[in-house]
Amino acid sequence: MQDLKSKILLIYTGGTIGMEVNSEDGSLMPVSLENLVNHIPELSRLECELDSYSFKDPVDSSEADWEFWNDIAKVIEENYEAYDGFVVLHGTDTMAYTASALSIMLENLTKPIVITGSQLPMGMLRTDGRENLISSLEIASLKDQHGHSILQEVAIYFEYSLYRGNRCHKFSTEHFDAIISPNYPPLAEAGVKIHWNLSALQRKVDFKNLRIHYKWKSDIAIIKFFPGISLEQLTYSLNQPNTSVFVLETFGSGNIPMRNDIIDLIKEKVSEGKCFINVSQCRKGNVDQKTYASGMKLSEIGVISAEDMTFEAVVVKTMHLLGKELSVEGFAREFQVEYAGELSI
Ligand code: ASP
Repeated sequence: MQDLKSKILLIYTGGTIGMEVNSEDGSLMPVSLENLVNHIPELSRLECELDSYSFKDPVDSSEADWEFWNDIAKVIEENYEAYDGFVVLHGTDTMAYTASALSIMLENLTKPIVITGSQLPMGMLRTDGRENLISSLEIASLKDQHGHSILQEVAIYFEYSLYRGNRCHKFSTEHFDAIISPNYPPLAEAGVKIHWNLSALQRKVDFKNLRIHYKWKSDIAIIKFFPGISLEQLTYSLNQPNTSVFVLETFGSGNIPMRNDIIDLIKEKVSEGKCFINVSQCRKGNVDQKTYASGMKLSEIGVISAEDMTFEAVVVKTMHLLGKELSVEGFAREFQVEYAGELSI
């Protein structure tokens, strides 16, 4: 039994959960945190001490960029010692990117960061926001027999499941279970009780000081392959100035057409010091540059495999590593290192 109540900070950044219908044009617009919590009087019955912090201008999460991630991390940094856990209310559209970013930024994290939101605004009768918020707060409050938080990483809670944040992807605009974790099992499931999948959790044995990495760089371009993509299109994309990393969205387990002109073009760019990452258009499973001749060719010319990382984690990790101003070799090496459970080794 816990004798001391956990102290949780609720951070409101925006998203559908806090939106209301704009009477002028009928669109959904983010409103204040007060408005949102007024819809859930049950919050006062929770077994935790709850404080809240609202972004001055809550936004639709499609507005998010690395400054927005830094703003959330700053609030966590300033309140880290005073609270046992954090629940972040966030739009679902880019939730997986923010979760990936926080997981990589917050080195030595030993407290729970649970990100949640909803598909329907809190003010609507059938909202999924009430359950998502209440369960997220409960999960962030739970401690083990030694008084340590059970969750010690960045997670997303959505529709009865808790997932590792950097393994998530938004896959549905209409179902309540909008978030999936295709390559990693849920960390917990909320039924009558919270059922933890203890072997899937990251548990820290040594408690070091929290270190936050605020530097990012977005010199990155995404190239999605499709049947019939032309050399001209590829050449145009690969000649973009100020781009040092190209993420190739390939077919199946990491394949592209076996055409000499395409391979030679990538090879030429690699020799100019550009980095290439191979991420599959398939969400489940991993890139395997050893199975097919095309994947093997890419590996041979220096294309880095994203293995089973999500597209979102790949983009965020790349931006983080670019912020470190590494050499090309350093980037390639670091990209293949697991930082916060985003990659199965
Ligand atoms: N557009 C909204 C957002 O990402 C969608 C949502 O919250 O579900 O902020």
